[in-house]
Amino acid sequence: MKQIVDSRTRPLRDLRISVTDRCNFRCNYCMPKEIFGADYPFLNRKEILSFEEITRLARIFSSFGVEKIRLTGGEPLLRKDLPQLVEQLALISGIKYITLTTNGVYLSKYAQKLKSAGICRVNVSLDSLDDEVFKGINNMGVGVDSVLKGIFAAQNAGLEVKVNMVVKKGMNDDQIMPMVRFFKEKGIMLRFIEFMDVGTTNGWNFKDVITKKELHDMISEEFAIEPVNPHFFGEVAKRYRYVGTDTEVGFISSVSETFCTSCTRARLSTDGKLFTCLFADQGHDLRELLRNGADDEDIQSFIQNVWERRDDRYSEIRTEESQKNRKLEMSYIGG
Ligand code: SAM
Ligand code: SF4
Ligand code: SF4
Repeated sequence: MKQIVDSRTRPLRDLRISVTDRCNFRCNYCMPKEIFGADYPFLNRKEILSFEEITRLARIFSSFGVEKIRLTGGEPLLRKDLPQLVEQLALISGIKYITLTTNGVYLSKYAQKLKSAGICRVNVSLDSLDDEVFKGINNMGVGVDSVLKGIFAAQNAGLEVKVNMVVKKGMNDDQIMPMVRFFKEKGIMLRFIEFMDVGTTNGWNFKDVITKKELHDMISEEFAIEPVNPHFFGEVAKRYRYVGTDTEVGFISSVSETFCTSCTRARLSTDGKLFTCLFADQGHDLRELLRNGADDEDIQSFIQNVWERRDDRYSEIRTEESQKNRKLEMSYIGG
């Protein structure tokens, strides 16, 4: 194993793999339906990495000490035969932990298969418990029930489950406390994600962000919560526990309390580009190397070179101006 660090001494530890840029939702904050319409140029089959290509790259990443992989998208459960990919990734000796981020709609169908294939945890995104609010966000007429069914199916299959809620002022602030009460009672960790300026299509404005502090204060009015020590260097969510219970609540404060200094994540897009930041405007083409006969050592040196030059810290230096720069969409780069 060859540990590498970037120009800010951050090791490469995690790999997020986007397995599709398509989605069965059109969440306003991610894939607004006005932009991602019938004529949107999604990637075609030839452009996207095959399972063999993804697995080969994952093996090379593991040679740098990457132990954790997160599958994401788009909606990863739209990728045909996804459990087969999970099986292949689970066979890589260095890979210890494979997780999946999903909107949950197809979880009841796949939970058992995913567990058997080697998924350890699912992060299910759910922004509301109210059908009308939820339908207004996903723009596909999907009700809350199908996501809740997916969450419980995942639990029954023995998967660890965390629920992610993006909060945006005026969109779902009235859902914060109902979500807190519901998931506390179920003993499931709920994590709040601050609305971010990913991509250029979601009309981001700082005024729409509900910060970690505001959320923390709101929850504390009803429940006593205490901070929990991070599990590892680079843990993204700031974790708290409801006093007297084992149930946690977390905050992903990418806007108000940035965490670039401990960012150990690389991202692989559906078409095989390596991104070293969620807010990057360009990636490094690994697919070209794969398809032009490069051997593992060539690809390894390429990745090492990219990582050692990495200087990203977008969230730390976000300004009104940089916020407007061209950035890639989250559904493409992988959330
Ligand atoms: N479709 C899957 C899902 O929704 O879980 C996986 C991909 S999605 C891009 C990954 C995560 O990014 C989701 O939890 C989603 O809520 C979050 N997300 C998308 N756009 C966001 C934004 N502008 N700000 C904050 N979080 C966002
Ligand atoms: Fe799809 Fe997830 Fe983006 Fe919503 S957040 S549009 S479910 S990729
Ligand atoms: Fe990592 Fe970029 Fe996010 Fe900072 S802004 S935490 S460097 S992905």
